[in-house]
Amino acid sequence: MAAAPSYPALQYEHDLRRALASGRELELHYQPQVDLRTMTVSGFEALVRWRHPERGLISPGAFLPVAERTGLIVPLGSWVLRGATAQLGRWQAQTGRPLRMAVNLAAAQLPSPGLVDEVRRALADSGVAGAHLELELTESALLTDPARAAEVLTQIAALGVRMALDDFGTGYSSLSHLKAFPVSTLKIDRAFVQALDSPLERRLVQGVVALGQVMGLCVLAEGAETPEQVRWVRDLGCDAVQGYALGRPLPPEQAAALLAAPPTLPS
Ligand code: C2E
Ligand code: MG
Ligand code: MG
Ligand code: MG
Repeated sequence: MAAAPSYPALQYEHDLRRALASGRELELHYQPQVDLRTMTVSGFEALVRWRHPERGLISPGAFLPVAERTGLIVPLGSWVLRGATAQLGRWQAQTGRPLRMAVNLAAAQLPSPGLVDEVRRALADSGVAGAHLELELTESALLTDPARAAEVLTQIAALGVRMALDDFGTGYSSLSHLKAFPVSTLKIDRAFVQALDSPLERRLVQGVVALGQVMGLCVLAEGAETPEQVRWVRDLGCDAVQGYALGRPLPPEQAAALLAAPPTLPS
């Protein structure tokens, strides 16, 4: 839900500050990522929501621009990283499964001097191995300061942490980025996945899969909304899929239920 246009900017910022300081109004929801070979849940993407006391649940599309404009995105990002790794640690302990967690990083978090230590501490405190955490960045986030981004991400990769290029195909889709940054996963943007009834989009996805194979990357298709789209991305050779067809972003208790009883998958 978008905030009403009558929400004055200063009030919005003030409320977001209060939400961050108390930590009580922000929530993480978790969307399952499914391995297309085994058709099982291999992990989750953490997606932040704001449960505003008067305005109800506000989506990140509405409040992240405010967080970015005011710099609150940096402490917000730290909160998300800590919360998502802690949750993953609990799920791994409860299930004994090598689940993964994907966490979105904003451009403004990359130059922050404490980021590498923050990631190290989040792993240590949660007992999660680096290889089970994946940080998602868009190409545009990398390009604010590419040299700094490469330096920081290389240090984070040395902890075993994986890195995904989010919304792949909508930005630069540059081959040089795949060499300059320690990328492990390409997340094909949902715009392509939702247009797979067109032969051109199918060839594009096939091309990304081929690129992923050459570069030794995992290819995940985002935003599959129908069983048919899940079958398409599986048959085109994607490794993993995420989308409403397999599960929406859910509060932790409901997301955990997917581990006990996995989503019904199309044959
Ligand atoms: P994203 O990282 O590309 O996340 C995927 C978005 O697509 C999520 O929207 C998810 O709910 C939505 N989605 C997943 N499957 C489907 C589908 O089948 N159909 C459709 N139509 N949508 C689907 P959400 O949660 O509203 O997040 C929007 C964006 O906000 C994210 O895009 C990400 O860029 C940003 N974001 C969310 N949480 C965080 C966070 O903790 N930190 C940062 N920096 N950004 C975040
Ligand atoms: Mg993402
Ligand atoms: Mg995305
Ligand atoms: Mg996006």
